[in-house]
Amino acid sequence: MHNNSKNKVGIKYVYKDRIYKLLDDMIFQKTLQKEVRCCGLGLHSGKKVNLTLSPSEENNGIRFFRKDKKGEMLEAKNEYVSRVNYATTLTKNGFSITTVEHLLAAIYALGISNINIHVDAEEIPIMDGSAAPYLVLLDEASTKRLSQRVSYLKLIDTIHVGNGEKYLEAKPSDSFQITYAIDFDHPSIGVQERTFQIKKKIFREEISPARTFGFLNEVETMRKNGLALGGGLHNAIILSENAILNNRLRFQDEFVRHKILDLIGDLSLLGYPILADISAYKAGHSLHFQLVSEILRNKDKWVLVQGFRMPSGKIAFGQMLAPSSSM
Ligand SMILES: [Zn+2]
Repeated sequence: MHNNSKNKVGIKYVYKDRIYKLLDDMIFQKTLQKEVRCCGLGLHSGKKVNLTLSPSEENNGIRFFRKDKKGEMLEAKNEYVSRVNYATTLTKNGFSITTVEHLLAAIYALGISNINIHVDAEEIPIMDGSAAPYLVLLDEASTKRLSQRVSYLKLIDTIHVGNGEKYLEAKPSDSFQITYAIDFDHPSIGVQERTFQIKKKIFREEISPARTFGFLNEVETMRKNGLALGGGLHNAIILSENAILNNRLRFQDEFVRHKILDLIGDLSLLGYPILADISAYKAGHSLHFQLVSEILRNKDKWVLVQGFRMPSGKIAFGQMLAPSSSM
């Protein structure tokens, strides 16, 4: 009871005293400064959806609310992923929210750990098919620092899902990096590969404007099934058998950049920002979630770390010792 050593709170270890170029705002949780709203079309329903983003408390995480379902709430967590074809859908207690990945990617890239997302329909509005409009909205809300630290999921062992044809591999790293390669048998796509360090500025400039894409023959089938009713050249890159129907691309390799955007959004369902070096080959939402599930299942392959300012003034990742329960 009076044993002081048992009551100590401190840093258990710091990774080899490595110095990380962390900004202060990576240490502490963030939320929005104020509420913001916009509206857009649901990609699948084709109907107008109102979206409101509002501030939340520490440790609440990312939460969705359906205004049209008496405010039912569902957390952005892997356990609620219910569908992964074409888009990511979350379902809890019989109600769903779909096409969450682009908004989640923008929230992740800005380091926002706590936010309430309100919609009055089953879909997040697709906007222009990229994450750039959400960044504009989040910039308007501006962020606020909270007092609790962010916990990062730091891999300490490699995790691999998939096979020789398609795979995803996450390796231990001190930062978050994605290498993505795709190979489509289409003259406008072909083989594309990119590597990015996932940082705010890079996300904003190189990744967030990349739009979703689809093939005309698939779109026709989807429409017959009541899907993609809101989809068109204003919110997607559409490919015919051998050409791109849009006037121009935003990047020559916009396709692979969009895959990276999707992966960031899907990885946010881990519940923690990740420190890992990820390689993806011909992956998609389904494989993204296999990786997320595999990481969460293998608890011996990662640790939770937080950022600390060292006496030298530098910032490093370490693990906080839990306060003794004998207090
Ligand atoms: Zn997407």
